[in-house]
Amino acid sequence: MAYSYEAPVSQSLFDRASVVTPGGVNSPVRAFRAVGGTPRFMVSGTGPYLTDADGREYVDLVCSWGPMILGHSHPEVIAAVQEAVARGTSFGTPGEGEVALAEEIVARIEPVEQVRLVSSGTEATMSAIRLARGFTGRAKVVKFAGCYHGHVDALLAAAGSGLATFGLPDTPGVTGATAGDTVVLPYNDLDAVRAAFAAHPGEIACVITEASPGNMGVVPPADGFNAGLKELCAADGALYISDEVMTGFRTSKAGWYGVDGVRPDLMTFGKVMGGGFPAAAFGGRADVMAHLAPAGPVYQAGTLSGNPVATAAGLAQLRLLDDAAYAKIDAVSAELRTLVGDALTKEGVAHTVSSASNMFSVFFTDRPVRNYEDAKQQEAFRFTAFFHAMLEQGVYLPPSAFESWFVSTAHDERAIERVAAALPAAARAASEVTA
Ligand code: PLP
Repeated sequence: MAYSYEAPVSQSLFDRASVVTPGGVNSPVRAFRAVGGTPRFMVSGTGPYLTDADGREYVDLVCSWGPMILGHSHPEVIAAVQEAVARGTSFGTPGEGEVALAEEIVARIEPVEQVRLVSSGTEATMSAIRLARGFTGRAKVVKFAGCYHGHVDALLAAAGSGLATFGLPDTPGVTGATAGDTVVLPYNDLDAVRAAFAAHPGEIACVITEASPGNMGVVPPADGFNAGLKELCAADGALYISDEVMTGFRTSKAGWYGVDGVRPDLMTFGKVMGGGFPAAAFGGRADVMAHLAPAGPVYQAGTLSGNPVATAAGLAQLRLLDDAAYAKIDAVSAELRTLVGDALTKEGVAHTVSSASNMFSVFFTDRPVRNYEDAKQQEAFRFTAFFHAMLEQGVYLPPSAFESWFVSTAHDERAIERVAAALPAAARAASEVTA
């Protein structure tokens, strides 16, 4: 596919990056491999906008893959960061910011009785699984195809996100022994979960699921699915782990738990709670968390865990996320979903705008999408044409048909109008392209 627009400065930065960094990026999906073209190197962000190294401005519908829920450079978050930085950047000791952030999480999310701070969502899920295994004395982990939980070895079987983008069923470097304790099941299929418990009674340490998946595109849990998981886990003595790294503090004040009310044994968080800095967490039942070092025998640690700058940013962001903020984000999401759906319908493009609270994505198929297999049936080549037409007109979408779009409180009418103005040409491009 040829692109009619250029990004010479981004291209030269990408050329330099490709010499010193594998694939030119520090996280695969940033490389535009699924859609082709030159990844944009961003130099600044303000409110709903990003500006690239060539000086072009974009309406940002990625929001750093979720964290920037108040938009970029929110003055109160920046002020909190500046104030924290002025006092020092890392002490390697406990600090009050960590306590305050943990208290905020515990106050918002009722099943979280205790929480441990870490630096990435990957660390959170990795640690939660180790804890589940340590607590139960069992080895096996159940996960769902298309759910991504970070690049944890045991969880890279049939993961979504970048692995969905690149069509990798698995990854070299994960040993058979590691993957051998992972049971991968189709999403939204309670019968498959029942069968797994029947096949491995007393062997499954935990079932981990995205609270509402956003890494195979947005595929919400069917009615009763999460509750069914919880019930099956409880009956067998396994732990139910809800991965809220993406949904946490985004889909409501209490994340997806605030939407479906199903009480997990353990939960994982990241993205929004770090305010754009590396902060993440896992937490849940106090009796389970008591098994973590130094209170208990399951080891887990981190030089930068609870970093004072990251905790200040996260706390400032969470404190600004009140009911009005969520109402605003929900409204922006609803408006954009309607605009996108109408534009594609007008051009006769088969599509489904799939949403879970304010997270949404577009599948280029009109068949129902309930799991990863369904998601893969879409005509992803239409997304590629759509993506580039939007990019050319100054709208930055996730560079993959298998990722959620994210909005923020900063997406005002002007930003939405810019998206609306770009949609007709993008829908036309999606309609006209051939595989
Ligand atoms: N869990 C979920 C549901 C995610 O969406 C992600 C990242 O996208 C992770 C875990 C991993 O988080 P991180 O990229 O911070 O390691």
